[in-house]
Amino acid sequence: MRIGIDLGGTKTEVIALADSGEQLFRHRLPTPRNDYRQTIETIATLVSQAEQETGQQGSVGVGIPGSLSPYSGLVKNANSTWLNGQPFDKDLAQRLEREVRIANDANCLAVSEAVDGAAAGAQTVFAVIIGTGCGAGVAINGRCHTGGNGTAGEWGHNPLPWMDDDELRFRVDVPCYCGKQGCIETFISGTGFATDYQRLSGQTLAGNEIMARAAQGDALAGQAIRRYEQRLAKSLAHVINILDPDVIVLGGGMSNVERLYQTVPALVKPWVFGGECETPIRQALHGDSSGVRGAAWLWPLEQ
Ligand SMILES: [Zn+2]
Repeated sequence: MRIGIDLGGTKTEVIALADSGEQLFRHRLPTPRNDYRQTIETIATLVSQAEQETGQQGSVGVGIPGSLSPYSGLVKNANSTWLNGQPFDKDLAQRLEREVRIANDANCLAVSEAVDGAAAGAQTVFAVIIGTGCGAGVAINGRCHTGGNGTAGEWGHNPLPWMDDDELRFRVDVPCYCGKQGCIETFISGTGFATDYQRLSGQTLAGNEIMARAAQGDALAGQAIRRYEQRLAKSLAHVINILDPDVIVLGGGMSNVERLYQTVPALVKPWVFGGECETPIRQALHGDSSGVRGAAWLWPLEQ
């Protein structure tokens, strides 16, 4: 049995999966914010519940909104900031009395979708979470690729490629929280989409409200979504020119915008070197469950 934990900012979720991928148990508890020891205790409680309910012992994988530094062994870049600087895998392994695998939540999405999701069986998968922010992860042969610095997939903090004049202005007006300007995240996150519409119209609306207006023929909302599609396409072409994944999977709030799957593939093509590109762009099959399922699959079937 495989146990996956998704450590989110507000809730911590557990799933227990059989070898077939069938869900045996699932439960969630509030994340004890700003309390490192209680965060570990919450995970221990969820693992214990999963094992009691199923009567089996499981391997444990955990998805976190950050990554482990391969140099210090400590958590970095977590927006659940109380994890930063902590030897989270070692502390959790000691508490659970077993080895624990930890990965970034976007890497968990990539693994989940590569194992039995929208990219099932694909060799190389690039998965993007486009929500409040923009995270991405890479799975190769169904396994998480974290890279030598633990930074693989952090493409959201590369600059938007091939910026036009308006994007050059956006770059200056909307700096990224990471301290740099022009990051892909500032353009293609749900927050970036709403910001762009606000700059066009002077109105502050949520992403789904902007989409509803575009569907009713609102010209500025239509312009915002067309600009968004072009920016997403340029950003993905950048990935294809480096990694050329077999499948690109989109998760997070903006991945629910259905027209992206019709419009973006054709917009990607002209930006790919040589102009040939048939890379499938698919919506995550497991939706919000992908993170917790991918955490469980950090222990693959073939060890
Ligand atoms: Zn950034």
